[in-house]
Parts: sequence; C-alpha cells; structure tokens
Amino acid sequence: MDTSTIAAVATPEGTGGIGIIRVSGPEAIAAVTAVFRRAPFGQKASGSDKTDAGGGFQSWRMYLGHILDPHSGTLVDEVILAVMRAPHSYTREDVVEIQAHGGSRVLEKILNLLISQGIRPAQPGEFTRRAFINGRMDLTQAEAVADLISARSDATLDMAVSQMTGQLSDVVSSIRQSLVSVLGSLEAAIDFPEAAGEEFDGSGQSLHLSREVLQQVNQLREAYESGRFLRQGVQSVIIGRPNVGKSSLMNCLLNQQRAIVTEVAGTTRDCIEAYLTTRGVSVLVADTAGLRKDPDPIERLGIEKTREYMASADIVLHVLDSGRPIDHEDVVIYGQLTDKSVVLVKNKADLADHEKVLRLPPAMQQAFCIEVSALHGTGIDALKQRVADMVFSSVARVGHGFVPNWRQKCLLDQAAEAVSKVISGLENWRLPELISIDLHDALSAIDEITGKYVETDVLDEIFSRYCVGK
Ligand code: GDP
Ligand code: ZN
Repeated sequence: MDTSTIAAVATPEGTGGIGIIRVSGPEAIAAVTAVFRRAPFGQKASGSDKTDAGGGFQSWRMYLGHILDPHSGTLVDEVILAVMRAPHSYTREDVVEIQAHGGSRVLEKILNLLISQGIRPAQPGEFTRRAFINGRMDLTQAEAVADLISARSDATLDMAVSQMTGQLSDVVSSIRQSLVSVLGSLEAAIDFPEAAGEEFDGSGQSLHLSREVLQQVNQLREAYESGRFLRQGVQSVIIGRPNVGKSSLMNCLLNQQRAIVTEVAGTTRDCIEAYLTTRGVSVLVADTAGLRKDPDPIERLGIEKTREYMASADIVLHVLDSGRPIDHEDVVIYGQLTDKSVVLVKNKADLADHEKVLRLPPAMQQAFCIEVSALHGTGIDALKQRVADMVFSSVARVGHGFVPNWRQKCLLDQAAEAVSKVISGLENWRLPELISIDLHDALSAIDEITGKYVETDVLDEIFSRYCVGK
C-alpha cells in the first residue's frame, strides 16, 4: 500500500477569497509544521525564520499563523490550519488543510514548499481513493462524492447525497447477505448431501431468497433506465426550417444572447449548446442549423450535425413559424421524429393571424403543441414546464432515491444473469456444486459494486475522473 504523503490545492483554479491546500499522510503534520509559524493572537508576524517545530497541534482545531520559507525566512501568506489526526479525517490518515488566500501564485508557492519537504503532489481523486482504501467509505459512496461535486441540478444532487450516505450500499449489502445465505445452504448440501433433503426443491428457502434477490437487482436495473435523465441530464434539440426562430428561442430559454439571431436564412451553421435547469432537472439544449431541402455545401455540414443531434436527443423541440402557413418541409421534418418525444413549438405567436391560426395537417395534430413568441418571451415558462413534465413522467418510476451509474449497472446486469442461472439450477435440481459456481459469479459482481473486491485498474479508471484535490 502507498504510504506516501500527498498534497494538492483543493479549491478550483483561479482566484478567490480563500484557497485550500489539503495534505494527507503520515508526514502531513511534520511537513506543514516545517513551513508554518503560529501567530500569537494580536501580534504581527515578522520575517524571522523560526517555524513551529514539533507541531503540538490538537486534532480538530484551527491554528492561525504564517507560512514561511524555512530556508530564506520569507513570509508567503497568513493562513489558518485545520488539523485532523488519523483516523478521524476524510482519508483516515493525518490530514492538514491550509486555508490560505485564494491566489493561484500563493497556493502554488505553498504547495512547492510542502513538496520541498518531501511530499508528493496528489493524483486526481487520490484523497477519496485513500478514504475508500482505508475503509471510510465503500466504492458507491466514493463515486457519489464525484457525482455530488458535478451535480448541476437539485435532482442529481439529492441522488448523490443519498448514495454518499450509503443508501445504495445498504441495498447492495442486503442483496449480498441473501446470496451468502444461499451459498451457505448450498455448501452444506455439498458437504452433507444426505442432509440436504428438500432444500433444493421448488419451495426451498434458497429458491425463495434467490428470487427475491433477482427482484431487487432488477429494480436497481430499472432505476438505471428510468433515472438515466437524472444522471446524464436530458438532451433536447431545437430543430426546424431556417428562420422560424430557433436561435431566438434558444436565447429566450437561456435568458441570454448567445446564439446568433439574424434575418438571413441559414445562419446557425454549427450547433450551439448550453445547459438550462428547469424544476431541478438539467437540460442540454442545442440550437441547430435549419433543415431544408437544397442547402449549400457549408449548410449541408450543419444539417448533418443537426441529424446527429436529433438522433441522440431525448426531447425534440420542433419550431414552426406561426407567421406563415405550414410548409411541406415542416411536415417532412416532423415525419422523421416518429420515435421521439416531440413538442411542436408554434413560434412567432405575435404574428399569428387569429382568424386563421397556424393549421396543422392531420399527421401533426396529435403532437403536443405550445404557442410562444421568442421575440416577446411569451409562452417560454410553459414550454420549460412542459419539458420538465416530460422528464418527470419518466423519472417517476425511479423507486429508491438513487440511480446506479453505468459501471454499477453493468455489474447488476452480470449479477442478474448469474442469479437467473442460480434460480433455474435450483428449480431443476441441478448439482449444488454447479449452482454454486453461478452463485459465486453473482457474489463477485455484487462485491465489485461496493468495491469489496475490485481490480486496481478499475479503481484507476474511476478515480482518474475526479478533480485533483478531491
Ligand atoms: P432561426 O434561423 O430559426 O434560428 O431563426 P432566428 O432565431 O435567427 O430568427 C429569424 C428571424 O425571426 C429574426 O429576424 C428574429 O428576430 C425573428 N423572430 C424570432 N422569433 C420571433 C417571434 O417570436 N416573433 C417575431 N415577430 N419574430 C421572431
Ligand atoms: Zn439560428
């Protein structure tokens, strides 16, 4: 096991009021002590080169003082130290957090002083990795830390918090317990075949437990499918003929002038995307190039891109121009959206002649319609609401508060397959030795979810996605 002491700037890059450097490992306190001099309250620091040798810090206390270069005696910054001794810290090692001023140069200097004390810079996610290795949290909780940091909506935040506090771990442990208990009776049957008796007929306890496990595993797999939106957010795309007001709608949705609005048809050649949050759900909106039959070569690229967006979108906002009658091209575009959740956005409602409101051909009449004016901002709230409703109608099916991530979902698939084999083995009175092989497969998949048994390269992959300092 790696017992080096690591350090990293834990606050984001750039300037800020405060910047925090985090140090963890057996040498953390000694190294910080070598570059720190405690300030007696009310006294100003001078340039003397004496540092606070020996430390003498109590755990869970803050200390005001100065960081100084032990060789030159130069003052670097006035800081507060938070000292957390093992095992009562994030990593369960000795941890010191140095709260300095949040300038990148200051933080870099302090970090370099620590490195000159023999400490090495931390890898991305290494603090959390140590928290996992040292048993402070299991792998699902460690993964939730990254989810929490990257959460862009209330819904994803809630999900990350429940997973971080161990709710997914609890469900997985109860699944594990049932599997272990089935394994126990199988092994008894292997060791004492004469005593196994009715254990392996259809009404046996093992069969009952295995079926229950399969149900629990399947619930989690379903939660992945229906809760995908919560994890990944929703992808929506704004499409339509040139000049119907797609870019204007995009700007309106985002309350800012980002997309280029012009009166020349075919201006948005690239797709512009941005996130918006509606009722706690994060929605990626892409403004696309207008779709039309005879594009010039440059436009054609944009249109290809638009088609890619259409293919991967969960929700399509198909924009129509209420100022003019429906065009054959509108109908053609709509016809390409058969397997999508579509909202027909009748834009330019301000131009609509109320005597003859935009009439839709029968093929488009069953679609959900909403009238907006991107120019005046009317109907936009109702449109956002509609998008949120579409998301929630699918998320409502998520049972527990959490949704497995893709890694966990793949392992749940493996577990489901193995448990199904166990069930059919039990139903068909197969040899306990054979059933036990499938059961071991199920157990190892389950144990990999919580990280009880997990390969180093899997951990490398998981923690490389974290930020440095977490
Ligand atoms: P896009 O090509 O579909 O992205 O269309 P734009 O957003 O560039 O808009 C094309 C033209 O329609 C611009 O002159 C806009 O000002 C105008 N426009 C967009 N939305 C509305 C609206 O709701 N009402 C009116 N009257 N004009 C609009
Ligand atoms: Zn546009």
